[in-house]
Amino acid sequence: MLMPSVLSILLFAAPDSDAGARLVALMPPPALDALSPEQHAAIESVLRDHMRTLMRKGKLAPVAPAGSANLQWPLQPVLGFAPFDYYGTAYFVDHDPRFPSSLQDYMCGERTYDLDTGYNHGGTDYYLWPYPWLMMDDDAVRIVAAAPGVIIERIDGNFDRDCAIQGNGGFNAVFVRQDDGLVAWYLHMKNGSVTTLRVGDRVAAGDYLGIVGSSGPSSLPHLHFQLEDASGAVVDPRAGACNEAPDRWTVFQPYESARIDALTTHSAEPEFVDCGVADGVPVHEDPHFRDRFAPGDTVWIFAAYSDHRNGDVTHFSLLRPDGTAFASWDFDLASQNLERPFYSGTGWDWSYALPADAPHGTWKVRAEFADSTYEHEFEVAAPALRGHSTHRRPAR
Ligand SMILES: [Zn+2]
Repeated sequence: MLMPSVLSILLFAAPDSDAGARLVALMPPPALDALSPEQHAAIESVLRDHMRTLMRKGKLAPVAPAGSANLQWPLQPVLGFAPFDYYGTAYFVDHDPRFPSSLQDYMCGERTYDLDTGYNHGGTDYYLWPYPWLMMDDDAVRIVAAAPGVIIERIDGNFDRDCAIQGNGGFNAVFVRQDDGLVAWYLHMKNGSVTTLRVGDRVAAGDYLGIVGSSGPSSLPHLHFQLEDASGAVVDPRAGACNEAPDRWTVFQPYESARIDALTTHSAEPEFVDCGVADGVPVHEDPHFRDRFAPGDTVWIFAAYSDHRNGDVTHFSLLRPDGTAFASWDFDLASQNLERPFYSGTGWDWSYALPADAPHGTWKVRAEFADSTYEHEFEVAAPALRGHSTHRRPAR
């Protein structure tokens, strides 16, 4: 299952690197989605048509411009989801209308993309992380309405394991004409997951719309959230030096949010996949989670990062039940000599063999990173007591 890829997730190991770190996942791909000008025009035409009809029927409320930020967080992990976090932010709106390779995000940086087809990325991409396909198959993350409004289009029934931005069928999606007059696009949902509400039905902020998937022009399971005004012009809900429009999020989302999304232990190196389909068969990542080990076992430690930058040092320690350090090490992305100094997502593992006389009890792996401390506990016990991981429910 370990295949190198330049498209979505790069998979290669660096066992001889400074800190013994092995790179197992890297984000984001060069582009997460795409729409041709014709596809965009076709969507606009349907939306306008539906809005006219709904207005005639009195089902679209008059526009009430939002006086202040009105967008709630559109993702909701299912209860009991164990890692610290569940998504990465790949790309923002491209404010530079030129293409290709003329990029400007709301902070005047280049965390966005465009294509030679004339597509300038029109939304914000939130991808499932660190196990995009497994999390999609587990229905791990729901998409909920960011603001109240009326559904003006819903699309379901499309294949949802796409892993390229070209050559796919349509996406599954919900479009909401918000009460503030803006139209919100929620794209790439999982097949069969789209809300049963119909065109013309109202949604409140927080109402279920679907499950994050990879339908249509999409490289991996993610939500493309896009806002447009009545004229069909893209509205970027993030305010910054290169976007004068007001910030519309009620939850502040920093431009960079350096964090550890998952810190877990495993019986073997977590296996990542290049795509949600291999040789025509659905596949997903195999994390090999395990939280119980016996003396003599090898413990695999996995850490997934968001917004990981060269120079941000993590201090790791592997602690015995009495709190003393069995091992400790520092990790700096810069030591890995990757192509770029910054990635929206990285995944690394380290392995340690427990000695035959490893003390029984609750061990801890601890990571101190970006002013936060992350901990994961695991048990060391006699082999007879060893069970399977209870970290999360197993993959289907
Ligand atoms: Zn996108």
